[in-house]
Amino acid sequence: MELVLATGNWDKQREMKAFLQDLGLTIRTLDEFPAAPVVIEDGETCRSNAGKKAGEIARFTGLFALADDTGLEVDALGGRPGVFAARYAGLHATYEDNCQKLLEELMGVPMDQRGARFLTVVAIADPDTSVEFVEGALRGRIADRGSGMHGFGYDPVFIVPELGKTLAELTLDQKNQISHRGRALAKAKDVLKRKLEETSGRSAAR
Ligand code: IMP
Repeated sequence: MELVLATGNWDKQREMKAFLQDLGLTIRTLDEFPAAPVVIEDGETCRSNAGKKAGEIARFTGLFALADDTGLEVDALGGRPGVFAARYAGLHATYEDNCQKLLEELMGVPMDQRGARFLTVVAIADPDTSVEFVEGALRGRIADRGSGMHGFGYDPVFIVPELGKTLAELTLDQKNQISHRGRALAKAKDVLKRKLEETSGRSAAR
């Protein structure tokens, strides 16, 4: 069975590959399909964006496709930036721009009021484009300055209170074990195992 990772984000691809590598699937990436449509993430929710990305890529490639969409909900900002986390500091904002804007908006907010949650929705689309969804979340706090060299996005400013470290201070494997994406991918793995069994059952019956 072949699975296309429906994301152009290399950092996400790396985490997904590390997590899914032991499933015995052939993992394909979007750069192998240069004519694939660029999916516009214009949904109001992570679920609609993830479903759209996985569905369009499954339809185009005729293969299974997996996509994630992640939001960052900051308590002190009434849940912002939420699903708009990628464009928080502007349409072409870099990871650094977004972290910087977040630190500025939270300047002076005490640590006990800096709670936040990452939410990842993973969509798995069949070649016939029926889509299944799973979710993973991680609660933490927004730091008052960035630290750590690993990860991507908001990782340097997202503290995992139980570990007393930011996500960027964890290795890829450590992050995958506890993160929103890791939790969603663990559930996605069960869905994929079932699909693997179904597809191998179908080919054995032929
Ligand atoms: P999207 O899922 O690609 O829309 O990502 C939304 C925003 O959240 C982007 O700015 C990402 O860099 C950021 N983001 C997504 N996943 C993570 C993560 O695991 N850690 C930190 N930031 C993330």
